[in-house]
Amino acid sequence: MKSDIEIARAARKLPIAQIAARLGLTETDFLPYGHDKAKITHDFIRGLEGRARGKLVLVTAINPTPAGEGKTTTTVGLGDALNRIGQRATICIREASLGPNFGMKGGAAGGGMAQVVPMEEMNLHFTGDFHAITSAHNLLAAMIDNHIHWGNALAIDPRRVTWRRVMDMNDRALRQNVVALGGPANGQPRECGFDITVASEVMAILCLARDLADLQDRLGRIVIGQNLEGRPVTAADIGAAGAMTVLLRDALQPNLVQTLENNPAMVHGGPFANIAHGCNSAMATRTALALSDYVVTEAGFGADLGAEKFLDIKCRLAGLSPDAVVLVATVRALKMNGGVARADLGAENVEALRAGCANLGRHIENMRAFGLPVAVAINHFAGDTEAETDALRAYCDGRGVRAIICRHWAEGGAGAEDLARAVVEMTAGGAAFAPLYPDDMPLWNKIETICKRIYRASAVEAAPGVRERLEEWQAAGHGNLPVCMAKTQYSFSADPGALGAPEGFTIPLREVRLAAGAGFVVAICGQIMTMPGLPRDPAALRIGIDVQGRVQGLF
Ligand code: ADP
Ligand code: MG
Repeated sequence: MKSDIEIARAARKLPIAQIAARLGLTETDFLPYGHDKAKITHDFIRGLEGRARGKLVLVTAINPTPAGEGKTTTTVGLGDALNRIGQRATICIREASLGPNFGMKGGAAGGGMAQVVPMEEMNLHFTGDFHAITSAHNLLAAMIDNHIHWGNALAIDPRRVTWRRVMDMNDRALRQNVVALGGPANGQPRECGFDITVASEVMAILCLARDLADLQDRLGRIVIGQNLEGRPVTAADIGAAGAMTVLLRDALQPNLVQTLENNPAMVHGGPFANIAHGCNSAMATRTALALSDYVVTEAGFGADLGAEKFLDIKCRLAGLSPDAVVLVATVRALKMNGGVARADLGAENVEALRAGCANLGRHIENMRAFGLPVAVAINHFAGDTEAETDALRAYCDGRGVRAIICRHWAEGGAGAEDLARAVVEMTAGGAAFAPLYPDDMPLWNKIETICKRIYRASAVEAAPGVRERLEEWQAAGHGNLPVCMAKTQYSFSADPGALGAPEGFTIPLREVRLAAGAGFVVAICGQIMTMPGLPRDPAALRIGIDVQGRVQGLF
């Protein structure tokens, strides 16, 4: 099998105008970015209000392991398969962050014969959305320090400015620093630091905004810190929301590209999956739904985090009602959940697979609790044995869930047609989706509900001050916001080593943060890194351009 980049380079791409035409767009409805990328215009999207919507299918997975699950690959494969069986399907996935590509190899455009192209651009500068987000974020940072410098009329407490700066690069040296050194002309010195762009609240806002007006309102609600009386100061107080919206105007328009099989793909937005909700933009999903019979989309991490946030944050805030969930599982990852070491994954081990199925079983129950039909996609790897896949199917049969072997990685859409047919059948009746908790449940109870009902914790233990903060926000009118959990993705618990289906544990709630612009409260249960570093031997050392001007070493 060829490498992902070799396959992507050999793709027979259609001009992007032809992909747009299939969605019913005429020449003025999209802005071409070269030959194979385009943005769908705000004007066109405004005209879609009130159109009937297609069905929304979420692809999520068991808890991730280093063995790999293939959510994006399955999203692309299922989208291609739906098109093959005569449905008009569009896939919606996230854009990739540029910085991490120079640390460890690994793209975000799917893999094998189930990829989105152009994959190099999508993983690098693409249509400039992340640069726009970086600029908008840092404009607000500059305006805050400028405000303090010119007399600080808002009485901002420089020690309590929480708005940091961002950059799309893994650069640990920037995590903590002091800005405005060098004398009065350079401003008021204070502690600051950098996060990676995808961790910016501006990214989460762009991904949840309904339109430009909503984008501006949300930007204005960003809390940047406190004044000397301890009251919140917002981006609207600073006067930054209008200019930030201008910087983001083009970036808010969804990007259109194609799969290897020339089916439409919207690749737009990419918020962190820990301190943010980890899904592509609501703009792209809603636009795709207005133009297709089926939209297949993906959420980050396992279903305990990714799907829960997709359902309780994105669908709630964007008014989306999903129709089905596809849970991706691999024999390899289930064996790891059953206690097999990564080095031993090559050997058949039905016993360990059965033990690991406990992890899958709990995710199935959880997804059903949202009122959604579930199918399990067994993403087939070359080394999987028949005895293993049979055992996995038998486990799913026992729970009344269809488990379908998918070979899209090796075969493209043809390898996922059975899954596509299952999805069509599952969605024929219409689902009874309901989020896990109502808007008016108090913030603390929302956190407890997620920890107990989704993770199966027996208790939540809050660090000192955490409950007081929640009560303050509750009193200040933020009590109706959903909660965004930041927890390890490797386990249902807060202990990344506890694989399978642990229970009876306590979730330690270390810290809470208010993302009033994005529209959620972040509950942090563990160490969260918002500015990654490069490894000792970064991929950048092997990346270069060959004599034909092609990128080498990136994937
Ligand atoms: P996720 O979205 O869950 O993080 P991806 O779909 O991006 O996972 O896949 C991660 C990696 O695993 C990619 O490099 C992809 O090519 C590879 N991969 C996915 N499915 C398979 C498979 N069935 N066989 C071999 N490699 C696969
Ligand atoms: Mg992915």
